[in-house]
Amino acid sequence: MLSPSARFSALALLAIVAPAAIVAVLGYVSIRQWEASSELLYREQARDMATMAAEKVEMTLRRAEDAFLDRLQGTLRAGTTSERAVDDLIAESPLVRRLYLVDERGELLYPRAWREGDQAVFGPLVSSAALRGLERDGKREVISSSQVRLALLARPGGAPVVAAFLRDTDTLRREILETTLGTLESSTNIVVLDPEGRTIYARAPIGDAQRVLSVGFREALPDWRLAVYQTADASPRQAVRRQVMFFTGALGVLVAVIVAGIVMTWRLMRRETEMARLKSDFVANVSHDLKTPLSVIRMFGETLEMGRVTDEGRRQEYYRVITREGERLSRLIDNVLDFSRIEGGRQTYDMTPAAVEPLIRGTLEAFAYPLAQQGFKVEVSVAADLPEVTLDADAVGQALANLIDNAIKYSSDDRALTIDARVADGWLVIAVSDRGLGIAPEEQAKIFEKFYRVGRSDTQGRRGSGVGLALVRHIAEAHGGTIAVESAPGAGSRFSLRLPLGGP
Ligand code: ADP
Repeated sequence: MLSPSARFSALALLAIVAPAAIVAVLGYVSIRQWEASSELLYREQARDMATMAAEKVEMTLRRAEDAFLDRLQGTLRAGTTSERAVDDLIAESPLVRRLYLVDERGELLYPRAWREGDQAVFGPLVSSAALRGLERDGKREVISSSQVRLALLARPGGAPVVAAFLRDTDTLRREILETTLGTLESSTNIVVLDPEGRTIYARAPIGDAQRVLSVGFREALPDWRLAVYQTADASPRQAVRRQVMFFTGALGVLVAVIVAGIVMTWRLMRRETEMARLKSDFVANVSHDLKTPLSVIRMFGETLEMGRVTDEGRRQEYYRVITREGERLSRLIDNVLDFSRIEGGRQTYDMTPAAVEPLIRGTLEAFAYPLAQQGFKVEVSVAADLPEVTLDADAVGQALANLIDNAIKYSSDDRALTIDARVADGWLVIAVSDRGLGIAPEEQAKIFEKFYRVGRSDTQGRRGSGVGLALVRHIAEAHGGTIAVESAPGAGSRFSLRLPLGGP
């Protein structure tokens, strides 16, 4: 079963993580859809553009060839089938590489003879069987193969003439492809490929660009293709991928920030909960600590008041107990009051040069009774040459009292208390050692925190409020010094208070 605070934390976590996860998933899904649709859109646009470019090429080519055929027809109609006139016409039309004129019976009218190899190419095309498809009534009908274009023209008197010509690829590239495709307003690379797949024209060097798609030309260039190329980094897919990466990165950062926020909030909450628990323990501990000496004082006071104790020695003993418990109460209340002053930032220190030995002996004096009663072996060794040190004697005395009180409180069977004071490396070092319970290494740093008690110290069965060592540390630091502990469980502890000789 979860505690209410854990349940609240789990709910809060869920309230943050669930929307973040939904945002992440939705973001991812919409990015994928966007990627797919932008890819589709790009392909559609590229196809439209390629089809349009192919049509434009075809139209331009047709127009140029028709212009040539018109002029040839003009020449034929004028009756001048002289070789010169046709030669001149060809010379003026760079698109036409070779021209043959053949009559109805398949006889060559121009030039006088077939060029080497040409008969094999043109022969079957102009054979009477192949020409049957061409219409006769002077209207021109054209069939093209990739190499050769045929046209039916008429001579004066109506006799048909078949004109067959071979295109010049260089001129096709320069005057048709370059002029039509080179001026297209598009950043994509357009490439024209012949039926063998050779590149006849490319708007830009292809390099490592990928072919996006290709479309065919119609009759004017059968089996030729117009292809659209795109370099990898300029492709929309790449642009989308960059966006996807950016979005994913941003999402990652967002999730990381949320997780970090959750972890920090979680830790803060745990610290607050722990602090609240420590504070309530503190109140219980202090009340308990106050109650015990008070009941002793009341009991002994009442006994004395009733006059039942007749023995003077016993009476003196009871007075001492009352005084001792009274002192303990004062110490306790001083600790709590000082602690609250420190917490509120109201604590002030009165630094004056003071002798160290009387301060130590005076503080120890207050513990003479419990030390003697519990059979402690007490040793005090103060270096003979200790100078006077600038300090707040009350505060340092209180710090020492806390250390001595702890040495007594956390003692075991081997009861020994040693206090030594000396100068080391320009510092006054006062060490309080015992051979008591000792402190585990992992606890040693924590014992100086406010309210902290080892194992909540209930297990150790010792009373305490957990503010003693916090107070000692504060006093040490207010003097510009430090407090440190060396300890091993079962072997005892040594607390060293180091104060600067010249004061803070
Ligand atoms: P407390 O009121 O509990 O004594 P302190 O701040 O003085 O509070 O000490 C914090 C904890 O450090 C104690 O609860 C105890 O567990 C441990 N401690 C302090 N002094 C000693 C010591 N001399 N020997 C063993 N443990 C000690």
